[in-house]
Amino acid sequence: MEALILQPQFAAKIADLYTRMEKAYDLVAQQLDFTCQGCPDNCCDSYFQHHTYVEWGYLWVGLMELDPARRKGIEKRAAEYAAACEKVLARDERPQVMCPLNEEGRCTLYAHRLMICRMHGVPSSLAFPNGQTKKFPGCFRCQELVAGRQAVPCVERAPLFRELVALEQELLGKQQDQLPKLKKTIADLILMGPPEL
Ligand code: SF4
Ligand code: SF4
Repeated sequence: MEALILQPQFAAKIADLYTRMEKAYDLVAQQLDFTCQGCPDNCCDSYFQHHTYVEWGYLWVGLMELDPARRKGIEKRAAEYAAACEKVLARDERPQVMCPLNEEGRCTLYAHRLMICRMHGVPSSLAFPNGQTKKFPGCFRCQELVAGRQAVPCVERAPLFRELVALEQELLGKQQDQLPKLKKTIADLILMGPPEL
């Protein structure tokens, strides 16, 4: 096994999908006249786990572009984040710890932030092949904004997810069934280094 640094052509496919996720989000945000401006909260302390090698690899494309001293600083914060989360999880509570990529309220790897960071905020839904749909109401501020409205626009996640899954399959190929299932925080993805395939 060796560390996977994504080839530029492959990285471009993920960047393209991420751009379209962003567009889908922005369209709904515009329809709702919703922005994060003036929000007293910062969602980057939400506890999320990530599931694809492809996003992990692309995160590392961004990390490798940073100056090594800056990357070291992020790794140090990632270790602190992991230790803080462990303590909270041991109490059976959900951690609320600032993401190690956040500096002074902003994402330092904005172009490489993960899918969940791109979806959080406006309402969205996920249609399953069995006909069921899971609804995501959006953040507390967006929920306040749309309260009482009859028809609320939302981002449909399914086609975007399908594309991400297709990229994952393309990247992993036959190894997909042998590799462990991924369920890692952003700090884990940083501390583990680039994925090894
Ligand atoms: S997504 Fe919502 S809660 Fe999060 S920063 Fe934006 S407005 Fe605030
Ligand atoms: S990756 Fe960036 S956008 Fe996502 S939680 Fe971390 S700092 Fe926030």
